[in-house]
Amino acid sequence: MSERADRLLSDADRELVAGLPLSEPQRELVATALALLRDCAVPGRHEVAAALRTVSGAVQCGLHVESSIGRASICAEGAAIAAAAAAGDTAIETIVAVLDTGDGWRVVTPCGLCRELISDYSPDATVIDYDASLDEPVRPVPVMELLPGKTTRRWK
Ligand SMILES: [Zn+2]
Repeated sequence: MSERADRLLSDADRELVAGLPLSEPQRELVATALALLRDCAVPGRHEVAAALRTVSGAVQCGLHVESSIGRASICAEGAAIAAAAAAGDTAIETIVAVLDTGDGWRVVTPCGLCRELISDYSPDATVIDYDASLDEPVRPVPVMELLPGKTTRRWK
């Protein structure tokens, strides 16, 4: 667990993260995103935090930035990908986002735009996803499984 996560996660947080049906590196990524949320969440402004690990092992984080004009808002996943791009390393191995629910937190599924963005940069990425219809809602999923109708437009 990172120093930040070690400092900011409560015992209840640690217990919830430890109980997730994920690999240890995936749980560490959830803890990293949750530590950012615990550090920086502001209701109505910063309610989602994301963490990604690249193929090289680097970890980058991003915080959701809400705008008074909805479509100007920036998702946490996009902010994390921007941080990865600034570091020159956008080959995402795994990405996760966590949501401040007001009375707690949970993993959140990426929106459609973020599914496109993640798959544009890393079609082989794994998303730690949340699907409330499942008995075990948190699970690792290949990003392309979340985006069966991905646009085929090629960008240069
Ligand atoms: Zn999004």
